Amino acid sequence: MKVPLLDLKPQTAALEAELHDAFTRVLRSGMYILGKEVEEFERATAALIGAKHSIGVSSGTDAILLALMALDIGPGDEVICPSFTFFATGGCIARVGATPVFADSCPVCFNLDVDDAARRITSRTKAIMPVHLFGQCAEMDRVMALARSRGVAVIEDAAQALSARYRGRPAGSMGDFGTYSFFPSKNLGAFGEAGLLVTSDDALAAKARLLRNHGAEAKYFHKLIGGNFRIDALQAALLGVKLPHLDEYTARRRANAARYTTALSSIPGVCANPAGSLCAAGGARDACRPGRCGIALAGAYAHNHHIWNQYTLRIVAGEQWKDPESPRDSLRKFLTAREIGCEIYYPRALHLQECFARIQPSLPSLPVSELLAEECLSIPIFPDLTAEQQDFVIGAIRDFMTQHA
Ligand SMILES: *Cc1c(COP(=O)(O)O)cnc(C)c1O
Repeated sequence: MKVPLLDLKPQTAALEAELHDAFTRVLRSGMYILGKEVEEFERATAALIGAKHSIGVSSGTDAILLALMALDIGPGDEVICPSFTFFATGGCIARVGATPVFADSCPVCFNLDVDDAARRITSRTKAIMPVHLFGQCAEMDRVMALARSRGVAVIEDAAQALSARYRGRPAGSMGDFGTYSFFPSKNLGAFGEAGLLVTSDDALAAKARLLRNHGAEAKYFHKLIGGNFRIDALQAALLGVKLPHLDEYTARRRANAARYTTALSSIPGVCANPAGSLCAAGGARDACRPGRCGIALAGAYAHNHHIWNQYTLRIVAGEQWKDPESPRDSLRKFLTAREIGCEIYYPRALHLQECFARIQPSLPSLPVSELLAEECLSIPIFPDLTAEQQDFVIGAIRDFMTQHA
């Protein structure tokens, strides 16, 4: 049996007639950039996120860039973000000429370690950018309290977390800006590139809208130096067809995650996250005392509505692991040999990336981020994963642990 990491074809097939209608509507409208389709999508997403303003943009990366530009962040400024994240988080900070200041992550939920972020604030810090990694919100009460006490802005990188909630509040609605991606592998995927920026601040929204379109208030009269960050009408129309189904996609991902957690927990050497543990307070890995190797399951905190963009395992080497290859890389090969899709998100933390080493000669050592990059492996969790496929994945992990634990 083949189990892909992600298969979007069933999701698309179920909506094919409606998607064709949306496509035809845009085709015949003669309006291909911004316009009515985009405005409708912006209204629907603003309502979903509970933000006053929603601004459709060209990608999740451009949403981050636009947020930084709207906050006038540039050379001489510092922005704190986690090191264990997708490249765009840190890359955009450097692209506006500011310095990304990388902080460590929580070993349980993979999100920003707020104590470590607090230690890295200086007089040059202009913003903190928490990432809601893999679909679970960062510890936002603490992030907001820290930012407000130091007078710095918060940009939530919610690329993987559209419709996730933190203590009932939607991901992306708590900071000054929330940014989202509709890259096809995200929980709401476009048919190409697209992203979104939200804010409830009228002035920031107006500025971001100008910057999205070369800073022009009237055509060819440029108030600000912006860029082309516009979303296609076609992507907005197609996303508008999928948006009403997002809750159903999420419910299926959550059911798949619960099924994994129950089934995998019963395998010797696999440790579920102790219920009720809090950010950076130990957790599955600490509970996991491997001989050769153990697997720590991702923690979903009770106060978070986790939307499981990824289901991520940590494969932990014990003292008796003698193979030069890490147990994570062994499991990856083992699953690949059985035609089970899996991926390492992310194999190298940002503070160790060549491009940042060049601009910042002395980068910090971030032990949790470095460990996560060596131990993490994400397994299939997409909404249309069948019970048979899931059992096949669970069976393969059971076999691996029988041989290697
Ligand atoms: C996907 C992603 C982005 C970038 O989104 P694109 O639409 O691919 O540009 C940014 N940050 C995180 C955490 C992401 O997962």
